[in-house]
Amino acid sequence: MARAGIRLGLVLAAGLAIWLIPAEGGTAGADLIFTNATVRTVDSSNPSAEAVAVEAGEITVVGTNQEAMAQRGAETTVVDLSGKTLIPGFHDVHLHAVEAGRTANGCYLPSRLSARQYIRRLRGCARRQRGEVWVRAAGPFVQDLLALAIEPRDLIDRAIPNRPVVILDALGHAAFVNSEGLRRSGLDTSDRDPAGGAILRDSGGRPNGVVLENAQNVVLDAVERPSRQNRQANYASLHDAIGKLSANGITSVSDAGGYWPRQHHLAWLQLSREGKLDVRASNALWVYPNRSLQSQLHRISAIRDAASGPHLAFDQVKLYVDGIVDYGTAALTKPYLHRPNWAPGGKRGFTYLSRARLNRTVAAFDRRGFQIHLHVWGDRAAKMALDAIERARRLNGPPNRPHRLTHLYLIDRPDLPRFADLGAVADFQLGEEAISPGYERFLRGWIGRRAAAHLLPIATVLRAGALTTLSSDWDADALSPLKSIERGLTRRGSPERIPDPATGLQMVTLNSARLLGQADETGSIEVGKRADLVVLNGDPIAVPAARIGEIRVLQTLLDGRTVYRRP
Ligand SMILES: [Zn+2]
Repeated sequence: MARAGIRLGLVLAAGLAIWLIPAEGGTAGADLIFTNATVRTVDSSNPSAEAVAVEAGEITVVGTNQEAMAQRGAETTVVDLSGKTLIPGFHDVHLHAVEAGRTANGCYLPSRLSARQYIRRLRGCARRQRGEVWVRAAGPFVQDLLALAIEPRDLIDRAIPNRPVVILDALGHAAFVNSEGLRRSGLDTSDRDPAGGAILRDSGGRPNGVVLENAQNVVLDAVERPSRQNRQANYASLHDAIGKLSANGITSVSDAGGYWPRQHHLAWLQLSREGKLDVRASNALWVYPNRSLQSQLHRISAIRDAASGPHLAFDQVKLYVDGIVDYGTAALTKPYLHRPNWAPGGKRGFTYLSRARLNRTVAAFDRRGFQIHLHVWGDRAAKMALDAIERARRLNGPPNRPHRLTHLYLIDRPDLPRFADLGAVADFQLGEEAISPGYERFLRGWIGRRAAAHLLPIATVLRAGALTTLSSDWDADALSPLKSIERGLTRRGSPERIPDPATGLQMVTLNSARLLGQADETGSIEVGKRADLVVLNGDPIAVPAARIGEIRVLQTLLDGRTVYRRP
């Protein structure tokens, strides 16, 4: 079906409809026409088509070959897609683009090595990073290092005594530091935990080298102090990440890192200035629980207001409500059945902020027009987040763009309708490990069989009428949106599956565009929207669900300009 197949404009004035005369033959015509395509528009009023025309970065025709070809001019590039699929650009509304490359640049340490093996590998890392001040590595879980007979601090000291060392854990919720690292972070003599974090201690009360949740940010802010070198490393990481996004058909993102004291935002600004930002970005800036709210309101608003560039905004703030179940720091409504004896918080878990401080913070940033991006693992955290959003709405009225809870492993049943009632978005990531039957088995002993069976309750939330999105959490998880859809459709042994591929596709396109407040510009293939398009070698709506992840991105366009072409 043709929608505005011909370039006509309809003006409604004083109840009168006036058809403007089209510029037929008066212009050079379309810049680009795709023909013979399987177009999956994600527009419910016009779900499929065979051709699309683009002019000046905007979609001008979605219809038949004939309708599109009517726009052909002397300069038009016509691409016969011979049955290949054309979809709107993917949106990935929760990922860590600046951190991605910086983690990978470090030295990888696997799980469950012996103390001797960790020491040997760490010495190798130090040799390879000779030019750096800090030695950086990543990989193990807290449990791996605490299982050894030696304190983590002493283990790393034994490997590298003279330089500061930081090892990021496997889950992004802890870090391991040696004595010199603790000293440089100002944590060596501290006898108190920073707000929102915890420092594990040896039997003598000294920090044992394990820092959890927000305490790791104290360390990482010391590792990545403002400097030219740090800026360059962030820039290189982001530059590399943008290429990977385009290769995966991703044209709009929301970066959830936003560690402004580590100059993350400067990498985005530099790429934007250089005209190399091949995605639209609506990024978050992270609100520290251990810094004053007033100073952060001031600072974060200043960063937002100074950011300019056609595709770049820092219009979200990121808050952690709780941590992660694997360290007993997810906040649950019911007590844990089992929890590590070193886990901070109480038997219902841990929160970064008190209820009062969370409420104040959400209301204050909401009032300034920020979109709130809340890390939520457990059902108690989800409840606190929804309460804070509800209170902000009462004080400030409805927000321009919906606030969002991300991760959402558990939701208490009475809270389900509150998403739709409050206009809050439920944003899920279905990482391979997180939806594996093995992980569910592991969690049964910690949170109970019933809770473990309804992990990441995506089907329940959809039925409750919430605006629901699917994102990657890259580089904590894999990047491909097609793989995410496949996982959602094929979750083994879980009732919480995405009902059909069209819903999955909508979650990574139109729903995400709605979350970002840009659905009038992106998220579907419709006349008048920007030509953010992806050519695929298979049709995600038609192939068997288990094969969606095998579909390859052949070409990605942003504003009608090719930003990726598969070699
Ligand atoms: Zn994340």
